[in-house]
Amino acid sequence: MDIIDNASELEELHRTAALSRARLNVHAISATHCQTCGDELPEARRKAIPGCQLCASCKGAEELREKMRQ
Ligand SMILES: [Zn+2]
Repeated sequence: MDIIDNASELEELHRTAALSRARLNVHAISATHCQTCGDELPEARRKAIPGCQLCASCKGAEELREKMRQ
C-alpha cells in the first residue's frame, strides 16, 4: 500500500472507512456500492459518472440537501 502523506486525503480516507463500517458495507470504498444505502451501483452508472459514490436516489437526496444548505 502506498504511503499517504497528504493529511486531508488521509482524513477523507478515514471518513470514508468509518462511513462504510457504519453501513456494514466493506465494498463501498471502491464505489461499487452506494456509500449511503449500500445498494450495488450498476456498471452503467459507474461508467457514466466516474468516481460516483452514491446510487441515483441517494445522490438526488444529497443534492437536495446541498441546495437547501445554500
Ligand atoms: Zn443509495
